[in-house]
Amino acid sequence: MFKILGVDHIGIAVEDLKEVGSFYTEALGLPNNGEETVAEQKVTTTFHPTPNGSEIELLIGTAPDSPITKYIEKNGEGIQHVALRVDNIENAIADLMAKGVRMIDEKPRIGAGGAKIAFLHPKATKGVLLEICEHEDR
Ligand code: ZN
Repeated sequence: MFKILGVDHIGIAVEDLKEVGSFYTEALGLPNNGEETVAEQKVTTTFHPTPNGSEIELLIGTAPDSPITKYIEKNGEGIQHVALRVDNIENAIADLMAKGVRMIDEKPRIGAGGAKIAFLHPKATKGVLLEICEHEDR
């Protein structure tokens, strides 16, 4: 058993973190918690938290074969994934797989900020790339 705790973040693929980031900080007044590169996923991200705990995640690819670089080549910049926070990611993956939901990640991996994350297969969600994530401290 697992519980969805809320929308954790919306992941937006961009070509210029600084330019797009300044829109979120200056026009919208959100904080910026700094850049982080996740080498394994070939992305650099910045998170812009909102007061209810949901965040905007901006992502750029760090290599031509990065999933973000490929996403932008195919679709242009824009919303790339939606992440739901869960109370226990191991239980969530086991539960979803038991329900026949196709997963990209059958085991959690470590994402930005040390969160445990896993992606569902877009074929399981009518084309939405859905991430589930669990934070130790939230
Ligand atoms: Zn994400």
